[in-house]
Amino acid sequence: MSVVVLEKEPDVGRHQSGHNSGVLHAGLYYRPGINEGQLAVDGIRQMVRFCRAQGVPHELCGKLVIAADASELPGLRDLMDRGSPEWPAGPGLASDPMSFERVEPHAAGAAAVRVPEEGIVSYPQVCSTLATLIRSLGGEILTSARVVEMKREESGWRLVTERGEIAAGFLVNCAGLHADRIARLAGERPSVQVVAVPWRILPASSRTTAPGATSHLPRCRMPPSRSWVCT
Ligand SMILES: Cc1cc2nc3c(=O)[nH]c(=O)nc-3n(C[C@H](O)[C@H](O)[C@H](O)COP(=O)(O)OP(=O)(O)OC[C@H]3O[C@@H](n4cnc5c(N)ncnc54)[C@H](O)[C@@H]3O)c2cc1C
Repeated sequence: MSVVVLEKEPDVGRHQSGHNSGVLHAGLYYRPGINEGQLAVDGIRQMVRFCRAQGVPHELCGKLVIAADASELPGLRDLMDRGSPEWPAGPGLASDPMSFERVEPHAAGAAAVRVPEEGIVSYPQVCSTLATLIRSLGGEILTSARVVEMKREESGWRLVTERGEIAAGFLVNCAGLHADRIARLAGERPSVQVVAVPWRILPASSRTTAPGATSHLPRCRMPPSRSWVCT
């Protein structure tokens, strides 16, 4: 079987994976027992193993989840009570409230819990390492090859890209925030649509003032769809 990755940008990792917050998440905000939580726990363990094996820079520095003011303290308490039974080593992810100024002198708030299992990683290097591995195993990565049309054929698919056509027996749609568009190109009528919301990421220079990972307490609710809505 041959594997071809079609990438519309001139290189890999130009979208979310190369521009995210670089946090190794452990599924802190999921209710214990649901699949998403287990996936996150498995995911962080696999990612740390991958980084160690491949020499990708990462650090299990822990993360502080901060309640900005007194109104957020019940949410923080809830997070601590919830914990995570998926971690066999301890009763929960969140440790006791602490004087977090010692850990992050530049952070402010009413209280915080420290999540020792979480950390930070260079996701751009994760992407470039994955690309090297794919190529070394005989796979091909076609960059600047935006998929613009998908035709079903008897034996599989014919994809029209900006670099010509390519035949495939099997497709994996991993177009990130464009995944709904790709699904529609394939003739699917997905009931969900990706919607952009504003987000802010601190510039890399901020790392000198906040050396570890911090997070405010998300105001999240879980609607019946089981997707988190955070503000
Ligand atoms: C602001 C922000 C912060 C985040 N922080 C974290 C974090 O700290 N830790 C964490 O674990 N996760 C974080 N995430 C989530 C994480 O980054 C994403 O879940 C992950 O990167 C998604 O990877 P992906 O491969 O599905 O999508 P992407 O990385 O977006 O890759 C999709 C690829 O598809 C390509 N593509 C799209 N359309 C086409 C087309 N028509 N033809 C060819 N190629 C196409 C794009 O060019 C792109 O390279 C964050 C996300 C965001 C938005």
